[in-house]
Amino acid sequence: MISIWQQCKAELKKRISDHLYDIWIEPVGLISDDNCLVRLSVPNEYHLDKLNKEYLPIINLIYKEITGEDIKFAVSVRQDSRPEEEHQADCPVNNEPNEDLLTPDNEGSQKTALRRRGNSGLNPKYRFSNFIVGSCNEFARAAAEVVAKNPGETYNPLFIYGGVGLGKTHLMQAIGNYILKKDKTKNVIYLTTEAFINDLITSLQKNKMAAFRERYRKIDTLIMDDIHFIAGKERSQEEFFHTFNALFESTKQIIISSDKFPREIPKLEGRLRSRFESGLITDIKPPAFETRVAILNQKASEVKTVLPPEVAECIASRIKTNIRELEGALSHLVFVSSFSGCDISLKMAEDMFKEIYNNVKKNVEISDIQKATCELFNINISLIKSKKRDRGIMIPRQVAMYLCKKLTNYSLADIGKKFGGKDHSTVIHSCKKIEEKIKEDNELASYIKEIEKNLEL
Ligand code: ADP
Ligand code: MG
Repeated sequence: MISIWQQCKAELKKRISDHLYDIWIEPVGLISDDNCLVRLSVPNEYHLDKLNKEYLPIINLIYKEITGEDIKFAVSVRQDSRPEEEHQADCPVNNEPNEDLLTPDNEGSQKTALRRRGNSGLNPKYRFSNFIVGSCNEFARAAAEVVAKNPGETYNPLFIYGGVGLGKTHLMQAIGNYILKKDKTKNVIYLTTEAFINDLITSLQKNKMAAFRERYRKIDTLIMDDIHFIAGKERSQEEFFHTFNALFESTKQIIISSDKFPREIPKLEGRLRSRFESGLITDIKPPAFETRVAILNQKASEVKTVLPPEVAECIASRIKTNIRELEGALSHLVFVSSFSGCDISLKMAEDMFKEIYNNVKKNVEISDIQKATCELFNINISLIKSKKRDRGIMIPRQVAMYLCKKLTNYSLADIGKKFGGKDHSTVIHSCKKIEEKIKEDNELASYIKEIEKNLEL
């Protein structure tokens, strides 16, 4: 289960540059997270000053977006140089959203609902009431409402597909939050397909498949995000097929999202594809200009910001296909405005675009990273895909894996595969090793920067 702090870090990662994130946010530790006070720790006084001045306002803003609450932060310098354990990981400090377009009539005890919601993997910020409807998503939104009101009874499974950042996760989590708000005893589980696969791998390794099956078959509503990641993973497909059947037969609701129509997902077993096609399939398309403006205004009002119409129009006319990027642009402006003390203006927006367009991230592939890494370390590319464990090969291999995780959206399992069939735990181990090493080893850190530069990011 992801804590609010982890969610906040993930958001921050999207909103500030990787470089700043690594320097200022990654070393911040979470000490505690209870009710309205979050205690954080930093390694030194300088970091404390920097965090207080530059990053707390945006951290505050993100917490507010997630929890709807004004949270207080206390930051202190820690003695030890490592961040504290995130012991509050499964204890979110969020408040039940108090309004929803679809307001279920029986309100449960807030505390229990929160605890339940805490285990569900759902983020309470995703609601129907803050999901803007346009022609791009009205069908999906309507289907979601029907499913939320009658889980397991109508469209089963509900399959939502569409491009990145168009609202699939938002909509499917809104269904889950709605069901849970209506009946806190329901076992609603949201998880990414990657989490399902990892859970399966761990259960297989630990010989705990009976518990795995038991866990998934007890679910009332299963919300499985980004199913396309299951492509080519036969064992996961088989297990998901059985999970699907068990839930379906006991009229439990299944909600699935994907970036493609089932038939277009490569390497998906026919029997799963036909299950996915047996319910209702609906897509979400990129929003039209007016919808983009409406979404921006909605997001601005959530953070109590006034967005002048010309600014909303400027952003909406430049960012067309990804709502997450619209939000990123808004956060950037809120951030700049809160530091400069100036209201958001058209000039500010235009400056931002100049900056962003000069820093567009190139799409980088695993093979590009392998090539650039091997060139720098002067080794043959076949070696980093081999099983050889000599230091001269292992370090470049770990660096390349680390960069693949940092610079691409591939799953750990996919990255591992491209390194001669290593598994996801090898990738995690490599990334951790490099993260530790670059803290002390300036030479290695500069090699990594050099590779990134050579990739022309
Ligand atoms: P996807 O899962 O399709 O990649 P998300 O659901 O993560 O996209 O959406 C990306 C961001 O855009 C989220 O913060 C979400 O709240 C926001 N968003 C997407 N669609 C809408 C919408 N119709 N109304 C309001 N916010 C939206
Ligand atoms: Mg998503």
